[in-house]
Amino acid sequence: MNRTRRTNGTTSDFRTPRRSARPRPGTSRKTGQSARPAARRQEFALPTTITEPLPAVEAFAELDMSERLLKALVDEGMTMPFPIQAATLPNALAGRDVLGRGRTGSGKTLAFGLPVLARLEGQRAQPKQPLALVLVPTRELATQVTDSLAPYARALHVRFATVVGGVSIGRQTSALRAGAEVVVATPGRLKDLIDRGACRLDHVAVTVLDEADQMADMGFMPQVTALLDQVPARGQRLLFSATLDRNIDLLVRRYLHDPVVHSVDPSAGAVTTMEHHLLQVRDTEKHDAVTEIAARDGRVIMFLDTKHAADRLAKHLLSVGVRAAALHGGKSQPQRDRTLAQFKNGQVTALVATNVAARGIHVEGLDLVVNVDPPADHKDYLHRGGRTARAGESGTVVTLVLPHQRRAMDRLMADADITPSTARVRPGEDELQRIT
Ligand code: ADP
Ligand code: MG
Repeated sequence: MNRTRRTNGTTSDFRTPRRSARPRPGTSRKTGQSARPAARRQEFALPTTITEPLPAVEAFAELDMSERLLKALVDEGMTMPFPIQAATLPNALAGRDVLGRGRTGSGKTLAFGLPVLARLEGQRAQPKQPLALVLVPTRELATQVTDSLAPYARALHVRFATVVGGVSIGRQTSALRAGAEVVVATPGRLKDLIDRGACRLDHVAVTVLDEADQMADMGFMPQVTALLDQVPARGQRLLFSATLDRNIDLLVRRYLHDPVVHSVDPSAGAVTTMEHHLLQVRDTEKHDAVTEIAARDGRVIMFLDTKHAADRLAKHLLSVGVRAAALHGGKSQPQRDRTLAQFKNGQVTALVATNVAARGIHVEGLDLVVNVDPPADHKDYLHRGGRTARAGESGTVVTLVLPHQRRAMDRLMADADITPSTARVRPGEDELQRIT
């Protein structure tokens, strides 16, 4: 799709100011607390909202939603909208496009889920012709989005189909044939289904891109744009992301029309609730330090570079009596689902993961993330750390740093705008236990 194919006449007014921090005169610019200079994080200048956004609400009840949906929110214990929801929901419910940035745990799922559900209440999709599309980067996230919207979907009789790779395509084909109003999908599998004639996007009225930055990072952009080009141009688009890097600039320019922008700086939110520790260890002591941390009372996610290393560590931890499990892309989808469920319910206390688990996965009450291997860059760091300190809780991110990794790690911290506390630790010391 191209912006010039938009039909509602305001197209020519839509401009994305490039690398300019100045709002155009006479326009409103809603950027929350993001006073950070654009150049440093290589973010693009946010698009200027042309039409005045509707004001934020203070309660869900003020929103233009059916009694049934409001009741479902109450039943789920949702009383007050989170800031990103308060700001974007009035606009999204009115049919506006939205560009929302909020750190992990800020409540993006309902921010897009409620408008999708409100719009589809009482509508029936034809076989193979969903009315809403939610694109997400990973299978885990797809399942999670579907699960967290399920109570509301049930209340409104809106049918969801989850379309992800790694599991049987037959069931997904049947779900689409039976008719699903909402499809939650990873790009690759959705393309397969479309190629097989099992799904068409020409009835899609609302499109959501969740964790758009990660989709870009994972190289999904060509697939995502190919899918978006099949969606009718006049539809509504909601784009949510933890960061707004320049690599999603294209999506914003090409597919969002006069969006309402809500942006809260991700690391500004993070520093208030998260502690960051760099623990300097020697090569010879790292293994014992990791084992000691994993054996703590509470749960922990440990990140490693490779599937192989993750499997090895999980095996070792099991052998010393820690209830550990590995989560990575080499596991089958049912295995991954099971592991995640066991971690959530506490059967597994140490989740040993590669970056697969680093985004979108929400585990209640997780207070410690350990980078056994340092992340590749500051974005990785923030996303891994985002597994903890969610929704106003506090959490700790510990990164084990070998002598030769110190310089790179200091640079990464500077890029992430984080001042960590640094300690030299050895296995068996109180200091290590205190921090973790
Ligand atoms: P994000 O997608 O921004 O990372 P989620 O949508 O997964 O965040 O929400 C994080 C957690 O906060 C979830 O457990 C969700 O149920 C909870 N949550 C979201 N909105 C609210 C709300 N308005 N009130 C209470 N809890 C909420
Ligand atoms: Mg999310």
